[in-house]
Amino acid sequence: MGLIEEHRMTRTVYLNGEYFLENEAKISIFDRGFLMADAVYEVTSVLDGKLIDFKGHADRLNRSLDELDMKNPIPYEELLTVHRELVRLNDIDEGLVYLQISRGAPSDRDFVYPNPDETDPTVVLFTQNKPGLANSPSAKKGLKIISIDDERWGRRDIKTVQLLYPSMGKMMAKKVGADDAWMVQDGYVTEGTSNNAYIIKNNKIVTRGLSNDILHGITRAAVLRFAKEAQMQVEERNFTLDEAYEADEAFITSASTFVMPVVEIDGNKIGHGLPGSNSSRLREIYLEESKKLAI
Ligand code: PMP
Repeated sequence: MGLIEEHRMTRTVYLNGEYFLENEAKISIFDRGFLMADAVYEVTSVLDGKLIDFKGHADRLNRSLDELDMKNPIPYEELLTVHRELVRLNDIDEGLVYLQISRGAPSDRDFVYPNPDETDPTVVLFTQNKPGLANSPSAKKGLKIISIDDERWGRRDIKTVQLLYPSMGKMMAKKVGADDAWMVQDGYVTEGTSNNAYIIKNNKIVTRGLSNDILHGITRAAVLRFAKEAQMQVEERNFTLDEAYEADEAFITSASTFVMPVVEIDGNKIGHGLPGSNSSRLREIYLEESKKLAI
């Protein structure tokens, strides 16, 4: 058995206030996360055993819960303690902490929300060990992207576990030998299947502005802040695929990939077909600065 499999089998996970071995944590078949994707989630990366951008993720979690009329069952300090405890128990140096809160398990299936006084939310956290996350070979090679129609629902600003379409998008990419897909709505790129999308033209970084059309990426917020601090120009506006094909550089951001260069979109080489210098620099700045701020 390889190290990773062994880790997977012996992971300690968190469920509703208790720690369990992963195969001993059980939830109800009536859980609304399972039946209706009535759940929200967050993914926080771990570098050098510390949490990257924890506060950003905790704040967005609160916002997602608010938008769905769910109460947050776990206060900030306790959430931080559970994250840290899982990192410690599972000996994570580089990896991810996944958190999910569902509306819980009422006694039967029903479209109507259960009374929150009678049904507690289900809170689940687990770690994913990813040695080499920061030093990923993909960052040196760059990603190949295809474009697909954005066929998701209209509240992409809420981080729900309705991930079937993004999952289909990744499979469409995989089928044609690409790494990921960017989604397009009314002629404009919205975002990647699990990341925010950017192009760079004449040294200006262009990315779609915030609205209900995209997830408000925590990495996006940090990267745009660091870019401005490094005197790079940033423009938040819609961009088309044609603009992307003609861009000097392109990249994506997410908690699990940080800043990841894109070198090909729909078979068109971006710039010289290698990770661009601005994208690579942004990746370095992001990793350096966010490690300094990690808790
Ligand atoms: N957009 C989508 C659709 C995503 O799923 C994600 C990551 N979950 C992101 C953007 C990036 O967000 P973050 O930087 O907070 O990971």
